[in-house]
Amino acid sequence: MKHLEEYRNADIAARYLDDIHKVVTRPWSIMEICGGQTHSLVRNGIIELLPQSINMVHGPGCPVCVTPVAIIDKAIHLSRMSRVVLCSFGDMLRVPGTRESLLSAKAAGADVRLVYSPLDVVQLAKKSPGSKFVFLAAGFETTAPANALALIQAEKLGLDNFYVLSAQVLVPPAMELLLSDADTQVDGFLAAGHVCAITGYMAYLPLARQHQVPIVITGFEVLDLLLGILHCVRQLEHGEAEVANQYARVVKPNGNSQAREWMARVFEVSDREWRGIGTIPQSGLEPSIKYRRFDANFAFAMANVPAETSHSCIAGQILKGMKKPGDCASFRKECTPLHPLGAPMVSSEGACAAYFNYAKISS
Ligand code: SF4
Repeated sequence: MKHLEEYRNADIAARYLDDIHKVVTRPWSIMEICGGQTHSLVRNGIIELLPQSINMVHGPGCPVCVTPVAIIDKAIHLSRMSRVVLCSFGDMLRVPGTRESLLSAKAAGADVRLVYSPLDVVQLAKKSPGSKFVFLAAGFETTAPANALALIQAEKLGLDNFYVLSAQVLVPPAMELLLSDADTQVDGFLAAGHVCAITGYMAYLPLARQHQVPIVITGFEVLDLLLGILHCVRQLEHGEAEVANQYARVVKPNGNSQAREWMARVFEVSDREWRGIGTIPQSGLEPSIKYRRFDANFAFAMANVPAETSHSCIAGQILKGMKKPGDCASFRKECTPLHPLGAPMVSSEGACAAYFNYAKISS
């Protein structure tokens, strides 16, 4: 705990809070991109301690929340095929599709398995050549290198029964969309530290310059978040729009070169639908031509069933920072973690689950 406690020091936190209160002179909206940051902000009561003029809005950085209904429906369809095993991380199993979730499909007899790594699925495929294993790969740049490595291993092992159903997304195109959307009012960003640990932060420089918005690369502990907010507010008050690296103990300008090489070798960038937001150009990752035989979209015939989300769920507006969970009429009523209507109430990184579990305030 030593290396965590030093980023949770109450005296230093009080000093940073005091500095924020002294620096701010007018209203600012700051978006934290990552769902992990949302949870830390809400769980630690930071939002309630900030000056009222700072409006923290919650961004689309929760992989479970942005995975489109159509991909959940496809995964369920695959899980019902003979000798197909559908594998994914725990939260993905509870996300509602059009009519059901992977968990309810499993309860009805489909072979759906919870795994902790795509590399585990490669091993399962190696051990059981008579079955076909599909990994539902949701996530941002943080998890893409492990997915790439799984495909590299599957190729080395000569597997013909391992596949990926990709729901992988990229952060900078989503930020570009938010900054170009007149309905979204974001003055500054806390960028996700773990994403930048992989990618570095050079891709954020043109975004900050073109849209004149400060972007502070920020971690997840209390002091990280307070310092990120302080750096962002200072820039806003001084009319600056720079990329600042507050998470330098983890993030280097060019990220992790080995992880980036695996991603570049295996994946190509494609347009991608984000749940509740719509299609964002060049915001997804798919297996490239060399690895296409591992792509579940090409390996299996799948009917194109029109996907539908709950009409009362306003997840899209929450993920774009236009609304807060408490603005949703279903929050804490029809929609709870036990009976989620939308993905942000399912995921451990979803804003609705964070407010449900931790917030004294709901908006
Ligand atoms: S509370 Fe439930 S229904 Fe409302 S936006 Fe959140 S996930 Fe959707």
